[in-house]
Amino acid sequence: MKWAVHACLLICVHSRSFAADNDLLIRNATIIDVATARGTPQRSILIHNSQIVAIGPSIQAPKATRIIDAGGKFVIPGLWDMHVHLTARNQLPAYPLHGVTGVRDMGSDYDRVNLWRGEIEKGSLTGPHIETCGPALDGVPSGDPKLPVRVVRTPEEARTVFNQLDDESVDFIGILPQLPRDAYFALIERARKYYSAVAGDVPATVSALEAVEARQKSIDHMSAILLACSTEEKRLRQAYVQALERGDREALDDVETAAIETLNAQKSETLFQRMALFETRSVPALAESHEKLATLVLEMQRAGVIILAGSDGGKPGESLHQELELLVAAGLTPAQALRSATLEPAKYLNAAGSIGTVEEGKAADLVILDADPLADIRNTRKIAGVVLAGKYSNRRSLTLAVRKEVLPNRDREGVGACAPSESAGTSSMIGTNGPFDPVQ
Ligand SMILES: [Zn+2]
Repeated sequence: MKWAVHACLLICVHSRSFAADNDLLIRNATIIDVATARGTPQRSILIHNSQIVAIGPSIQAPKATRIIDAGGKFVIPGLWDMHVHLTARNQLPAYPLHGVTGVRDMGSDYDRVNLWRGEIEKGSLTGPHIETCGPALDGVPSGDPKLPVRVVRTPEEARTVFNQLDDESVDFIGILPQLPRDAYFALIERARKYYSAVAGDVPATVSALEAVEARQKSIDHMSAILLACSTEEKRLRQAYVQALERGDREALDDVETAAIETLNAQKSETLFQRMALFETRSVPALAESHEKLATLVLEMQRAGVIILAGSDGGKPGESLHQELELLVAAGLTPAQALRSATLEPAKYLNAAGSIGTVEEGKAADLVILDADPLADIRNTRKIAGVVLAGKYSNRRSLTLAVRKEVLPNRDREGVGACAPSESAGTSSMIGTNGPFDPVQ
């Protein structure tokens, strides 16, 4: 994948045989180490092209180097939103505006997303790094043209579609709750053979424990986990499958409520221990879930389950901050919440050598904050500037990038989320608290 560290850059920088045009020096910053939950003050960060090449108390840079004084400010790794749906080109600049330098796209039109990814890499469009599954796999057609799915009904179809998506080089395989049980197991067996990750919803006819043991890489949303922790799992699963088939949101809510009322500590402990053992990540997407599910999130964290922050729709970029706040409200520390959007996504992507912390040799994807996020997670919203692939933008230029894309297109395109069981569908990215407002 694309996160390889280029050792030659380090050598070039230290031998000064490079053009300084692409260099950036951030001075006087407090660097937040998300792994240890500590801040180190008075640090300078030298960036060459898209990489951090040196960190120290004082760094001498060539004259032409662009210098950013970050005195009194805090530097964290770029944030990742691990559950989004990229449905519109004009939503992309909103992610960096909110410090989100990477997203995991859980289902969208692969051709369009690939096109946008190419534009971002060329520099003609402002947007985050993108990991995408292309269209997610489901047992029924999508009711939303912005969220195309590949319909898979049999094990044979599952294998065929896996081969096609693998040939198209999707980053992983995304799945939705109505994927049939036998197709799911055929898919996951094929995926394991080719070292591909399968992630997303657990199909309604598969238990969370089965999905963990089949090595599904992430379980998104709390539905499957909730069912698996209920003493009434079998009965509620039948009701859940039927409600999904009917698209009956009220019945789905009833199932959720009944599951919450019948949670069993022994069942949840067994599941969470298995998830921790097999490193099955949980993406709770709390903004889309029942408030009471928060207690399960804290139990998962305590059992050693890896939590990934994912917003699933809402307002691009901004919703991730809401998710971080909900994780802290659920009982995670600010440092644990920060890790769920930095270091843990990096490990999930097998890219911890290149992203996820602020260290020499890693990608220069950074967020400069006006206040300490370890003191209050809401401080991740206080963004002074963002470094994305080595390029620094202040709040104003990031806002201009959003305006450039959104204003000509504001009536044309919306923002997607999982449907039908998981969210209210589309919502506006330019509402009253949208990305235009917090400009400073
Ligand atoms: Zn989703």
